[in-house]
Amino acid sequence: MRSKIAQELAEETFDVAIVGGGINGAVAAASLSASGLKVALLEKKDFAGSTSQESSNLVWGGIKYLESYEFSLVWDLCRSRNELMKKYPSSVREIRFFTTLQKGFRKPRIMVFMGAVLYWFMGRFFTKAPRLLSKETINAEEPLVDTAQSQGGLEYSDCYLRDNDARFVFQFMRRAMRSGTKALNYAEVVKATKTDLWNFEVMDHESKQTIQVKSKVFINAAGPYADMLNQLSSIKTQHRHIFSKGVHLIVPRLTDNKRVLTFFADDGRLFFVIPMGACSCIGTTDTPVQTLPAVVTDEDRTFILDNINKRLKLAKPLTRADVISERCGVRPLVKKVGEKVGVDDDWMNLSRKHAIETHKAEKHISVFGGKLTDCLNIGRELFHELNTLGFKGRLTQDWFGESPERARFEKEAEALGLGGIQVAGEGTLIDRLWRCYDLDVFEILALIESDKTLLDAVSPSSSVILAEFVHMAKREMVSHLEDALRRRTRLALVAPHEELANSPVLKRACALLFKENADREWQRYFH
Ligand SMILES: Cc1cc2nc3c(=O)[nH]c(=O)nc-3n(C[C@H](O)[C@H](O)[C@H](O)COP(=O)(O)OP(=O)(O)OC[C@H]3O[C@@H](n4cnc5c(N)ncnc54)[C@H](O)[C@@H]3O)c2cc1C
Repeated sequence: MRSKIAQELAEETFDVAIVGGGINGAVAAASLSASGLKVALLEKKDFAGSTSQESSNLVWGGIKYLESYEFSLVWDLCRSRNELMKKYPSSVREIRFFTTLQKGFRKPRIMVFMGAVLYWFMGRFFTKAPRLLSKETINAEEPLVDTAQSQGGLEYSDCYLRDNDARFVFQFMRRAMRSGTKALNYAEVVKATKTDLWNFEVMDHESKQTIQVKSKVFINAAGPYADMLNQLSSIKTQHRHIFSKGVHLIVPRLTDNKRVLTFFADDGRLFFVIPMGACSCIGTTDTPVQTLPAVVTDEDRTFILDNINKRLKLAKPLTRADVISERCGVRPLVKKVGEKVGVDDDWMNLSRKHAIETHKAEKHISVFGGKLTDCLNIGRELFHELNTLGFKGRLTQDWFGESPERARFEKEAEALGLGGIQVAGEGTLIDRLWRCYDLDVFEILALIESDKTLLDAVSPSSSVILAEFVHMAKREMVSHLEDALRRRTRLALVAPHEELANSPVLKRACALLFKENADREWQRYFH
């Protein structure tokens, strides 16, 4: 599949080349190819291999931005959240944020509650109403929370991605590829020059060949790397990025209640315990960094563990030995060129708005900032930018969203005996397969029908089954075991490393994925 796409990329001239296969690149490809444009997408790592695999997995209206009076940002994010809830009812789900406030918090509890009511209003009352929590209610409903220093709290609603951010990105990528996008992962743009067309020199890190790609328009969706890419292409912009590092630690599930436990950490920012399958994801940090990629430091780990141990009544404090996996990314935050960032700047209050900058003469568009929650706006705005560059097309409503075939799938899956298979923290197998594969799920059913052993789960910590690996090998451009374990599924996040390393079923999955190269890929991942 890869080599055919690489060949097509070299042979054709595209209307648009998108550089970057994170959420912004993926929505751009989905919206533009659905509107009839010929689209190429180039990603230097795996799809969603950078920032878009390191988020908090929240689809939220940004309640915390009310504190910095960014009402229009919250209004827009709430609208995007609601739209994603409607269009992805299986994978974007409402969840309660069970918030505990410490005594002496910077705002009175009633004021924070009024903020949550305003937030509910700005969310067009689309979720359940907020609720004030007394200390006694917190003790009764979530005894895990240490309320010794608490003044009570509140509960409000937002949404989370039931699977993983990277899987969410892949849903857009799959939709884009179905509409004709030629997308290649492990394909790095190393040179971009403009003649009458944009000419890209692309290093295919898999085949070790250089590919020449041509397009009329260049969209820079390289996330935190956008400034570097603009430098490489001699494009001068009015915006630039600064970076804030965010770390999460994943530990065995701390509470069986399906809610996000919300606190304010010692540095004053929101701090979450978010359900992630049979695990809990704790974080995050927010610290300025200058260089990429950012890495998790001992200081980050200590900050997260200390903060959570102070706020929960655990039988035994969490230590590094409890950490199953770590996530670390940088938030690309937008600044105007020339605007200073001083040591006195409140980093946590820097605006999270995105910016799209178009250079008409060069037919070049840069995307700065953005959030997973904001993705539909970015897809639409890029379509309009292409119109201003003279491309005519129509953006139909169906460039995103879950397909309407779930009922038929459930019937067929139950007839095959998949009904009733439950996995801790993930709901039923049927539900998860639908969320992750949408229409492609029928191919997975056909595989199971032809070989029942493909129903074997690869690890006790998750419901991922062998049939998914056979499907991935054919359709999901998996080049390395890490692509399958960390991004197409979230096994690498929720299953302990040793459990995976000792799983004979995963060995078989690796053989199904990589055939004669299975040993090499196994060694590459585990050693
Ligand atoms: C800790 C943290 C928590 C967050 N939590 C949330 C949240 O809960 N909800 C939310 O909505 N948002 C959240 N965000 C924000 C959100 O994750 C990011 O804004 C979003 O993922 C950025 O997507 P992107 O496509 O712009 O960048 P990326 O995902 O970084 O994609 C850019 C891609 O470009 C590729 N690239 C770069 N240079 C080249 C080149 N020369 N050739 C080819 N490819 C190239 C990179 O490899 C990369 O994959 C969070 C961010 C962080 C860091």
